[in-house]
Amino acid sequence: MSQKATTKKNKDGWVRRGKCRRCGICCQGDKLTPGPSQDDKYIQEFIRIIGTDCPHLVFNSENKAECDIYLNRYPECWVFPNKPEDLDLVNGPCGFYFVKKP
Ligand code: SF4
Ligand code: SF4
Repeated sequence: MSQKATTKKNKDGWVRRGKCRRCGICCQGDKLTPGPSQDDKYIQEFIRIIGTDCPHLVFNSENKAECDIYLNRYPECWVFPNKPEDLDLVNGPCGFYFVKKP
C-alpha cells in the first residue's frame, strides 16, 4: 500500500496519479486477482511478502487500512502500484491510475 502520488516516471514512462483510498486490498493476498503483471519479478515478490493476509495490516475505527510498519514497510509496498498492469491485481477500485509521459 503506497499512499502518495508520485511524479517519478517508471522505466516504461508511466507516471502514477491519484491517491490511496486505504481499502487495504493490496495488502491481502487472498483478495488479489491474477493478472498479466504476475510474470513480473517485483510483483511476485510483493505477493510473496503479503502472503494471504499481511500481518501488518490493521483497520482503524473508520475502516481505513493502516500499516503498522508504515515507515519501515517493504520496498515493494512503497511503490505498489508501479505500473498499469499492477492494477489488474486489485479486485476493486484502486485510488491510483497512470498517465503516460513522453
Ligand atoms: S488497492 Fe490501491 S487504494 Fe487500496 S490500499 Fe492498495 S494502493 Fe491503496
Ligand atoms: S507491510 Fe504494510 S503496506 Fe506492506 S502489505 Fe503489509 S500492511 Fe500492506
